[in-house]
Amino acid sequence: MKDKQKSYFTIQLNYWHSNVNRRSLPWKEEKDPYKIWLSEIILQQTRAEQGLKYYLSFTGTYPTICDLANARDEDAFRLWQGLGYYNRCKNMLATARFICSELKGQFPAQHENILALKGVGAYTAAAIASFAFNLPHAVLDGNVYRVLSRYFGEETPIDSTEGKRLFATLAQELLNIENPSAHNQAIMDLGATVCTPKQPKCDECPLLKKCVAARDNLIHLLPVKSKKLKIQNRFFNFLVFQFGDEVWIEKRSEKGIWQNLHQFYLIESPESVDKLALQENLHLAGWKTLIQKFEYSGKMKQQLTHQLIHSQFYTVQLSDKPAELSASGFWVQVDQLKLYAFPKTLVDFLEASFHS
Ligand code: SF4
Repeated sequence: MKDKQKSYFTIQLNYWHSNVNRRSLPWKEEKDPYKIWLSEIILQQTRAEQGLKYYLSFTGTYPTICDLANARDEDAFRLWQGLGYYNRCKNMLATARFICSELKGQFPAQHENILALKGVGAYTAAAIASFAFNLPHAVLDGNVYRVLSRYFGEETPIDSTEGKRLFATLAQELLNIENPSAHNQAIMDLGATVCTPKQPKCDECPLLKKCVAARDNLIHLLPVKSKKLKIQNRFFNFLVFQFGDEVWIEKRSEKGIWQNLHQFYLIESPESVDKLALQENLHLAGWKTLIQKFEYSGKMKQQLTHQLIHSQFYTVQLSDKPAELSASGFWVQVDQLKLYAFPKTLVDFLEASFHS
């Protein structure tokens, strides 16, 4: 790659950022490392527009890292509800507690110490180091991969080991070390608002003059990914056990999706099953005489990164209240359901069934 093309990139990008870029987000002018870290954790796997209200409610409810460290798990998960990828919330609480108790509430200011925090990977560490401390570490996220691969016409797959190394080196070489914070913000904003995945606005792009993809008509081919995502189908049958105005819910404790969130009694099946098969299941469990009503109550789909969750719901009215329906569950009053965190599919079901 020509040095001239690289220096043109950095100069044009930084000029664009200072004079044209008007993208405004509340964490952009922020210098408090705690709030920057919070915004970056929220924005992992989440669009900025979607993450905004979560950022505002977390910083409003927990203005300092020790406020977050002292939060009840349940309250933090409840605030996180709807963002998905709940491991992020779990790691976030663990990190807040570590910093509050072990580091006396002082957020680490060195790149390697930031990188060592739970839930912080290479991108997040570079973002915090540059935005909070103006340290010279280039960020590399989906936006940056896209801008760089198109501008340089670089066809090495971005999800290969070679590609990751190549783009990391390139991003670091391009970094304006006079102002790493502004440079990183600029390249991410350019990717989010101009060099978008579909129909990029090349006419408005400060890099157009030397962009290889625009010149050679390669835009739709870049960036290149080598692996196709394999999606696993899962079939969840939720039985909403009710006795009077109480509902049976349980906490998911196993690793995997939705850990620490709540759900109704779940029977997972290898394929879609009908009402009769589920009733049979309950009869085998010895609850036949207790069941007053067994009613289909709807179905929903939720697409996660690697899984497509097919959920169907059945309301099961009981004539008596067994103390235990499953090991990790408990009875709760319907009007208390709002105190518990649920995955999005169940939130949608609850909205439709209990809050209408
Ligand atoms: S000219 Fe078009 S393809 Fe090239 S970097 Fe700019 S927006 Fe992206």
